[in-house]
Amino acid sequence: MKLINKVVEDVDALTDLLSVVRIDLVTSFLQVVQPPGFWGDSSLPHLFLTFDDGPSPHTTPALLEILAETDTKATFFLIGKEAEKFPDLVKEIHQAGHAIGNHSHTHEYLPRLSSSEIEYQVVKANQVLGDIIGERVELFRPPFGMMDGRVASCLKKHNLSAVYWTSAPEDWAIPGAARVIRRVQWKLKRGGIIVLHEGKELAKQTLEAAKQIIYSCRHQHLELDKVELCLTSNRRRIMDS
Ligand SMILES: [Zn+2]
Repeated sequence: MKLINKVVEDVDALTDLLSVVRIDLVTSFLQVVQPPGFWGDSSLPHLFLTFDDGPSPHTTPALLEILAETDTKATFFLIGKEAEKFPDLVKEIHQAGHAIGNHSHTHEYLPRLSSSEIEYQVVKANQVLGDIIGERVELFRPPFGMMDGRVASCLKKHNLSAVYWTSAPEDWAIPGAARVIRRVQWKLKRGGIIVLHEGKELAKQTLEAAKQIIYSCRHQHLELDKVELCLTSNRRRIMDS
């Protein structure tokens, strides 16, 4: 029995390693072909924990509790349509001092849309979020991480900065919290951007992973902070020059 457990554990570890290598390769490729954005910055003292696809009653309140208990600031990339359903959760995120970013209105694969549909996805979500929190949203994470030149032009027109990632542990496939944590731990470094996802199916895993990632950072004296526009702007200026 012990041997079987050991083999299963080794296979899981190997699968996790392959996941990290695969995502690193995809990320490196996308950094070359995608329009510019914030891919993290190793010269920064902090790293960034980000949550996509909320707000969700299954994850947002508990995440806010974990973040408050650990005195941690994070960044939430919210879907406009979900924000319309749960405006109080958006307000709570904002009032707790976390950063809020636009993750499109209905989470479409933007490069497949017409230019006017792209404009709608970006502008509508910004309107919804801005009306709820009383402030203009300045950060944008493209659904599925995919943009094209038209999306980039639209972001520029509306003064939004694209934020990508350095660690995406493929949590959407629900491998379990322990494996999400292991994949993220291999990538913990200053200036990095970690992506986890909100939602009913992912709730248990996301909450446990968020908690453990925060503890791991503490243990390694790595500080977490929210993404701010000034960081992405500096990075953009460097990339544009
Ligand atoms: Zn998403």
